[in-house]
Amino acid sequence: MSLIVHKYGGTSMGSVERIQNVARRVAKWHAAGHQVVVVPSAMSGETNRLIGLAKEIQPQPDGRELDMLASTGEQASSALLAMALLAQGVAARSYTGWQVPVRTDSAYTKARIESIDDERLRAELDLGRVVIVTGFQGIDDLGNITTLGRGGSDTSAVAVAAALQADECLIYTDVDGVYTTDPRVVPEARRMSVVSFEEMLEMASLGSKVLQIRSVEFAGKYRVPVRVLSSLTDPMMPLEEEMTSGTLITFEEDQKMEAAVVSGIAFSRDEAKITLLAVPDTPGVAYSILGPVAAANIDVDMIVQNQSVRGTTDFSFTVNRNDFVRALDLLKDNVAQAVGAAEVVADDKVCKVSIVGIGMRSHVGVASLMFRTLSEEGINIQMISTSEIKTSVVISDKYMELAVRALHKAFGLDQDKSAA
Ligand code: ADP
Ligand code: ASP
Ligand code: MG
Repeated sequence: MSLIVHKYGGTSMGSVERIQNVARRVAKWHAAGHQVVVVPSAMSGETNRLIGLAKEIQPQPDGRELDMLASTGEQASSALLAMALLAQGVAARSYTGWQVPVRTDSAYTKARIESIDDERLRAELDLGRVVIVTGFQGIDDLGNITTLGRGGSDTSAVAVAAALQADECLIYTDVDGVYTTDPRVVPEARRMSVVSFEEMLEMASLGSKVLQIRSVEFAGKYRVPVRVLSSLTDPMMPLEEEMTSGTLITFEEDQKMEAAVVSGIAFSRDEAKITLLAVPDTPGVAYSILGPVAAANIDVDMIVQNQSVRGTTDFSFTVNRNDFVRALDLLKDNVAQAVGAAEVVADDKVCKVSIVGIGMRSHVGVASLMFRTLSEEGINIQMISTSEIKTSVVISDKYMELAVRALHKAFGLDQDKSAA
């Protein structure tokens, strides 16, 4: 008998029929003698609908109330799944984040999980029930409902798996695994049967929405075996077949998919760039600019500061597009004048495209092939950032798909190398 956590995304929970199929699949695992905890997302479109309603009333919705609202999508889908299991004769109970409780900090709309109490979950499992825990939500020290950021149910699932020391966390979604890039953008993308933890971490942090970054961080910290697989297959498919399908995130580097230098291409449209022109090149300027941005709980991604000419320099950085207006207002109202910038210019029509691969460590010329490929497509690079296993560029978002396709081809990811 194993303890398994299943997570089902919005599409997988998207209709009564799909919820009934999820229940059939869960019932199959339960009947095979496994203890099963299920973490569902809201039905597809529901979280967007709720956020849309909030914005009609308050263009920049109050964080606490937004979380109060957005968390309801998961509560509904969890209860529906419990009912579908009960209707199929399977003992099941659903719990909200606060009932478990899943404790988080108080950063509304992007809270971090701090701890999960496993007592109630274990008691239910010991009674032979399937336990359903709402994804995406938790509770802070003061009893306020919080949410974990878009795509946060992945993190709920992996965190629950870590708390219960589950044997495996299965992330069921609308694709049958992790691909070399988003298969919706590049139809030639290939599924990887295994992906290294480090590569998955980079892919997720650079925008591959298949897993929320924090879920991968949890998997690494607590060594949770995570597999990404399809929820759209026949729910009654043989268990042995299902257990080896999809993509396994491996912690063993030598088990990596293949000796490819670049394993995947990630991209993110959620980017915006802000530049302060002609700031004095003196100690403390970066802190004077980015300190207030951090204090406003806005994450900064890429930062570029140039060599100074006659004592001044341009200072550029990127933020998530959701934080763009807030960051820009903050700089224009308070910071730009204080640091003596000549002007603030901003562009929220940019995107980030990245190549990722452990093999980049031991190969030279990888970034230069990236730059050549983009130049051959006539795409201007606005910012560059590199690490041992990735190179990212910021470009105009109108070229995003072109860039991703060209790079996928240039790095030989289109070819069938029998990885899957
Ligand atoms: P869920 O609702 O199940 O959480 P998401 O929409 O959050 O599903 O994530 C699955 C989607 O991630 C896929 O439909 C696919 O379009 C997208 N995606 C982006 N990059 C990748 C990738 N490298 N491999 C697989 N899917 C990817
Ligand atoms: N329902 C939330 C969202 O749409 C969380 C999730 O689906 O993972 O972002
Ligand atoms: Mg998701």
